[in-house]
Amino acid sequence: MQHNLTRLRDERTGPQEFRRVLGEVAALMLYEATRSFAVRPTKVRTPLAVAGGFQLQREVVLVPVLRAGLGMLDPILQLIPHARVGFIGLKREETTLKATFYHKSLPRDLRPFEVILIDPMLATGGSAVAAMDLLTESNVEHVRLVNLVAAPEGIRRVRKHYPKLPIFTAAVDKELNEKGYILPGLGDAGDRLFGV
Ligand code: URA
Repeated sequence: MQHNLTRLRDERTGPQEFRRVLGEVAALMLYEATRSFAVRPTKVRTPLAVAGGFQLQREVVLVPVLRAGLGMLDPILQLIPHARVGFIGLKREETTLKATFYHKSLPRDLRPFEVILIDPMLATGGSAVAAMDLLTESNVEHVRLVNLVAAPEGIRRVRKHYPKLPIFTAAVDKELNEKGYILPGLGDAGDRLFGV
């Protein structure tokens, strides 16, 4: 994970490699993020005997925050192909750093689902909190945040508003710069992914 994260941080890594490596990190993170999914015991008959096993208690909804969340969506879908996918579009106002909402498509009632919110850069925490506000409006009960790089300020803000939200991240970096970018971070994740 750390080897791959270092390649993502490296400014010489172009969009094609960035997408591939981000996918590998996302797949590794998914193991941790799904470890606590609720399961119920079940039994199946193998060709030889009865085996005890488990089945997921709830269906899964993946919710990437646009744009950067898209970079982790496909690799996670490869591992949970039965998941549903919702989207949240948030844009950061360059001067105020406030997250403004422009798109939402979610199941109306998220209560029965296991939701994975995908937001790779937890900087000021504005977009994660705004995304959680939208999920809460849709009654979310079982949710976790999959992130790639977090700033301490962002973690504090999310903790303040949603103290019970589990956050999975590959790195907690040092600080934010005056423009709200994570230092050392990896730059603008959306730009790095899509080459703009
Ligand atoms: N969003 C990014 O893509 N990068 C940062 O450093 C902060 C927010």
